Amino acid sequence: MTEIPLEQHVAPSGEQMTVRELASCPPPERWNDWVEYDAKAWPRKVERHYEIIPTICFNCEAACGLMAYVDKETGRVKKFEGNPYHPGSRGRNCAKGPATINQVNDPERILYPLKRVGKRGEGKWERTTWEEVLDTFANKIRAAIVENRRDEVMYHVGRPGHDGYMERVLGAWGIDGHNSHTNVCSSAARFGYQIWCGADRPSPDYANARFILLISSHLETGHYFNPQAQRIIEGKMMGAKLAVMDPRLSNTASMADYWLPTWPGSEAAVLLAMARIILVERLYNGEYMRRWVNWQDYLAAEHSGEEQTFERFIELMIDLYAEYTPAFAAKESGLTEESIVDIARQIGHAGTAFAAHTWRAASAGNLGGWQVARAIWFL
Ligand code: SF4
Repeated sequence: MTEIPLEQHVAPSGEQMTVRELASCPPPERWNDWVEYDAKAWPRKVERHYEIIPTICFNCEAACGLMAYVDKETGRVKKFEGNPYHPGSRGRNCAKGPATINQVNDPERILYPLKRVGKRGEGKWERTTWEEVLDTFANKIRAAIVENRRDEVMYHVGRPGHDGYMERVLGAWGIDGHNSHTNVCSSAARFGYQIWCGADRPSPDYANARFILLISSHLETGHYFNPQAQRIIEGKMMGAKLAVMDPRLSNTASMADYWLPTWPGSEAAVLLAMARIILVERLYNGEYMRRWVNWQDYLAAEHSGEEQTFERFIELMIDLYAEYTPAFAAKESGLTEESIVDIARQIGHAGTAFAAHTWRAASAGNLGGWQVARAIWFL
């Protein structure tokens, strides 16, 4: 870090100042004792010593990296800033990240467990201990397991940021009652992904994509997941085309190269029509499909009298999805046939550099909406 000579800089108070080049973040080797002047003491130069502790923001599931500036004199967090060493967010947070300080200092923040003492809804609570909480819950859960009343135990969490971990705990207990708010907005998309790829929230490689297709409300449509939004913009800056399938002119759609305002519930029909175009025009990734699609099993089970070759499998798939023509998808969705064909071809030509995602409305708002997540994989 370059320091400008002291004598060149004098504070309004008349004191000399050490001026350094602007830096976006304190270097990690100085995180144990980072010194800043107290802004409120200006023009006096009062040093404040901080220990900088890396942590995360959990105001959404993106879990961006933050740095907590802990005042060494008071032991309290003074402020939060983005952590440029976090591999996901890379120091770029939305406004909710640094605003975490408001939650820390909220006078109504609940700092210890409470037990209801009045009637339900009466609003009467008394302070209890974690020991009592753990003993009470553990005894009840244990009794339910021992007495084989496992369906009486349900786990509810607001925002599940511990993907996979609780499933293992609950699975070990023999309990399947896991609920969260995402069971309303994203469970259908998660289900489609889970049964198709074994992960309920895959993260496509947007930064290296040549074509990106986003369906519905999710990611960077204005409510969260800035790490993915950063990479979508990076992909666009490298020349990727972005298509958004959403009846709303969302924030994302307004940034897109193609806005596909489909009628709600018609998304899967459009995706299947696109998949069929990719098959008919031989734009698919044959090497990938030969290896990862169980086409031999399909032929043996459904067409044992047919030639058992990959080429015959493709022909049979084209027949199977014969009704999903551009005309059919256009009638269902309100899009033009030309736009469906054009996007399908661009997806096909992007090859392995195609990134897509669906979330919320298209999957959650329609019966069988999980098929939208499943149909994306056909592309
Ligand atoms: S996107 Fe915003 S709210 Fe979500 S984790 Fe990052 S900083 Fe926090």
